[in-house]
Amino acid sequence: IFLYRYPQYHFLNLMTLIYDFFTGLEWLPKEVNCENTKVKPGTYEIEDNTKNSNKLLSEPIKDFFLRKALETDDPFDYAVQAIRRIIIKVNNRRVSQIPDCIISMNGCCIPGQKRIYITTDGEFKVCEKIGYSPSIGNIETGFNKDELIKHYYYDYIEQSKNDCTHCWASKLCPLCFSNCYDENGFNLTTKRNDCTRAKNFVKDCLIIYHELLEKNPELLADIIKSTDV
Ligand code: SF4
Ligand code: SF4
Repeated sequence: IFLYRYPQYHFLNLMTLIYDFFTGLEWLPKEVNCENTKVKPGTYEIEDNTKNSNKLLSEPIKDFFLRKALETDDPFDYAVQAIRRIIIKVNNRRVSQIPDCIISMNGCCIPGQKRIYITTDGEFKVCEKIGYSPSIGNIETGFNKDELIKHYYYDYIEQSKNDCTHCWASKLCPLCFSNCYDENGFNLTTKRNDCTRAKNFVKDCLIIYHELLEKNPELLADIIKSTDV
């Protein structure tokens, strides 16, 4: 939004300004996490999703933080905090000698456990990012477990399993409910629209992890150690 309003700011200059700003806040505890995320389209049609499915919106941001992380030896540097979750995710992945038959439900949460979105007419939605989707209850009657299980477990698993069991990215796939539903329920076409993006994300995670492993292995070891504390 900022770049749209102020096109005179070059992207890298802006990122450098943000980086310098947070790095310069002496009172900010170093352990404070920094999340590198993007606005999710939910089930609304966004041109970027259909036309540029090979490109991650956040790609240049990740690239910026990776370059910075390669230059530092501080596991709590602001740039490191921005890619910490990715590093831990890859580091803690399940590694086995033989193909493994257990595949998780991609990056899905447990509906209703951590967050909930309540519409103005009192319906419960899985989260604020999901857009049009079946409700999982309402303020009058509480959770509707049958609907929740039907839409967000059975339908999701049944219609996804053929794709996901044949996908190289399945162990680290971040895709979740937020891009897979419309008002009628699970929509495999909508979900598939986001698969390329999810696979590119997994590829980026592997690149970030292994570039650090090759070029700054001490930092990688310190990042992993610092999360055990
Ligand atoms: S974004 Fe996805 S994983 Fe996160 S709360 Fe929403 S549905 Fe769950
Ligand atoms: S990218 Fe698509 S097919 Fe692959 S694991 Fe994720 S949801 Fe399944």
